[in-house]
Amino acid sequence: MRTLKDINVANKRVLVRCDFDVPLDKDKVADDFRIRACLPTIKYLIKHKAKIILLAHLDRPGGRIDPALTLSPVQDKLTELLELSIFKTPDCVGEVVEEAVAGLQTGEILLLENLRFHPEEEENDLNFAKQLVKLGDIFVNEAFAVSHRTHASMVGIPRFLPSVAGLRLTQEVKILTQIISQPKRHLVVIIGGAKVLTKIKVIKNLSGLADSILLGGVAANVFMKVKGQEIGESKTDRETEEYLKKIDLDWSKIYLPIDFLPNKNLILDIGLKTAKNFAEIISKSKTIIWNGPMGVAELEEFSSGTRKVAQAIAESSGFSLVGGGDTIAALNKFGFLEKMDHVSTGGGAMLEFLAGSKLPGIEALKLRKKSNLH
Ligand code: ADP
Ligand code: MG
Repeated sequence: MRTLKDINVANKRVLVRCDFDVPLDKDKVADDFRIRACLPTIKYLIKHKAKIILLAHLDRPGGRIDPALTLSPVQDKLTELLELSIFKTPDCVGEVVEEAVAGLQTGEILLLENLRFHPEEEENDLNFAKQLVKLGDIFVNEAFAVSHRTHASMVGIPRFLPSVAGLRLTQEVKILTQIISQPKRHLVVIIGGAKVLTKIKVIKNLSGLADSILLGGVAANVFMKVKGQEIGESKTDRETEEYLKKIDLDWSKIYLPIDFLPNKNLILDIGLKTAKNFAEIISKSKTIIWNGPMGVAELEEFSSGTRKVAQAIAESSGFSLVGGGDTIAALNKFGFLEKMDHVSTGGGAMLEFLAGSKLPGIEALKLRKKSNLH
């Protein structure tokens, strides 16, 4: 995998696939962690006199224009962080965009509108990718969090352009590779949150790497349901239950919650005893990997399980690796984010990488031969 530093970008139109999928508070960016993570690459490109074109998606508009999901809040935040004016186009492909790119000077930045306003992005449509390709000379993947998706901007563009890894993505891959290849044990993986199918699909492979797997959130509910435990009205996911029933999994490393808030008929957080057990395992671990809140941590009354787990990780002397939008937001709110050793921009992508999967967005960077790079 080649990186940004391996190529000459001066005077080139550089397409940078960023990860700007940030939480919003009305028309403002509520948490700018992911935007900040792209800044070193953007600053590097400014310094080396590239013409910079930023590509990104926001949330899930479902292939239609949704005015609530425009990248304008991201444009404002970038302007504030870089202290530069950032231009934004009303779309991400087409004549207007091509004209804007043609007028771009070196060191200037153009932000293209939400890629997912077009269904072709998630369908990995070849013609859509080609329309994007027209806009640049070089492609930089700086969207680790999206690298497990075979979308047009992630895997389509690199088929046609010299493509390299952004500075942050390079660092992510290095740290995660180190954990997989030489893990310090005891290694604990903590999984919670709501996007359960993606997360539970990696548990089987992660159980090779992990010594213990602690489950909270909806992920735990699915496991309890499949084990035949009563979970009442608690949230679960049918498809994930069916998947879990089918796979051959070593349950001996898996720790499920034993008490709940408010109760086991409506599980919205792990209880005190569970949090204590989890904290004890965490305190003994040399490597701690966490993705997904233990409960509905955005509500104060159901945030204590997540807070206790976060605190145990912050206080542990082991190497801590955390990822996931809601996980990071919770850590930030509790004031523990700075205590983490590495904060990954990816949640699902981080877990898949650790589980040994080849991420299509990263594989796409490896396919091109060196002779294509000038
Ligand atoms: P991350 O963004 O860190 O990867 P997810 O997006 O998968 O995490 O999950 C975060 C969401 O999970 C939050 O909106 C939270 O409310 C929800 N959640 C966690 N535990 C529960 C639960 N027991 N019941 C319902 N929702 C839950
Ligand atoms: Mg989330």
